Amino acid sequence: MMQSAVDVRMRLCFNPCVEINVYIGLGSNLGDRELNLLRAVAELGKLPESRVSGLSPFYETSPVGVTDQPAFINAVLRLSTRLTSHALLLHLQHIERTVFHRKRTIHWGPRTMDLDLLLFGDEVVTDDELTIPHPRMAERRFVLEPLCKLAPELLHPVLGRTMAELLAVLPLMEHVVQI
Ligand code: ADP
Ligand code: MG
Repeated sequence: MMQSAVDVRMRLCFNPCVEINVYIGLGSNLGDRELNLLRAVAELGKLPESRVSGLSPFYETSPVGVTDQPAFINAVLRLSTRLTSHALLLHLQHIERTVFHRKRTIHWGPRTMDLDLLLFGDEVVTDDELTIPHPRMAERRFVLEPLCKLAPELLHPVLGRTMAELLAVLPLMEHVVQI
């Protein structure tokens, strides 16, 4: 079977030597939200050069930013991978588009699946496609609550604080409930 150029590019973009622990934020507020998250976990488990090495509990969370939309289900997944950060971002966007038929319409609007690259080892990236650590993760309870279930002692490579320390200083603004 012919492989598309993007298939080949995504396959070749990995480092054969080092496995890195990556944290991915999952969110859905359209359709069967829990089933969508389970489907995303299964899809992430099929990525090349990667294995799912941790999954947080699921949380129901009130929308942030655009608040006039249904509540989200959020979770954080740890992927141990040899892919590069940019190759992994392409894979996440490919899953959003092809498995969940996500259309990029309203920024921060309702979506069947949002996959955000939160942390990629202690890599710091700032370019046109990618910012790592995810720029808004430290102010989002719906990220830090599930992340702290997996890695409370993990250090934020820019802020120099652990995930538990970042969570402890967050104001209690959003509704984030473990389900
Ligand atoms: P949001 O998640 O903020 O609602 P999108 O999912 O539509 O927005 O992503 C918008 C853009 O953010 C994507 O085109 C992607 O290139 C960029 N982006 C930059 N850094 C990241 C990251 N760490 N994780 C995911 N997307 C990122
Ligand atoms: Mg996103």
